[in-house]
Amino acid sequence: MEQTFIMIKPDGVQRGLVGEIISRFEKKGFSLKGLKLINVDSAFAEKHYADLSAKPFFHGLVEYIISGPVVAMVWEGKNVVVTGRKIIGATNPSESAPGTIRGDLAIEIGRNVIHGSDSVESARKEIGLWFPDGTVPWKSSLHPWIYE
Ligand code: ADP
Repeated sequence: MEQTFIMIKPDGVQRGLVGEIISRFEKKGFSLKGLKLINVDSAFAEKHYADLSAKPFFHGLVEYIISGPVVAMVWEGKNVVVTGRKIIGATNPSESAPGTIRGDLAIEIGRNVIHGSDSVESARKEIGLWFPDGTVPWKSSLHPWIYE
């Protein structure tokens, strides 16, 4: 079953949106396989966002991610990478559709509340980086009510 890495960014934690965000993934039917509240340092944030290191906003992005605790999660389910990105919405909240997390809960691109892996390959790398000791193997008893 496919997995994705989801992070509630410091603004989401500070604004008390952790429960709301987790609830959206839970209600969809995805399974939570890893969860931790963590402060990361700039070296770690730079590693997570290494692909964006040439972008003009990179320094600000790293400062944002290290500005407070984040909630790191692994969610599992059929097509969870692509569907997770749809639940999250477009990068810039001014373009995110209503009904998405960013569309409903954020205004600015530099305070867009949540991160989600953009491909199965990035998910694999990000889960390895954030959960080096692995995740929690369990199967929801609701599985047959969610999948045919
Ligand atoms: P996404 O998070 O939707 O995958 P990107 O990988 O392109 O988007 O960018 C990573 C993060 O960098 C964004 O979620 C956002 O927090 C920040 N970011 C992207 N573009 C900008 C920008 N033009 N100005 C400020 N921050 C940005």
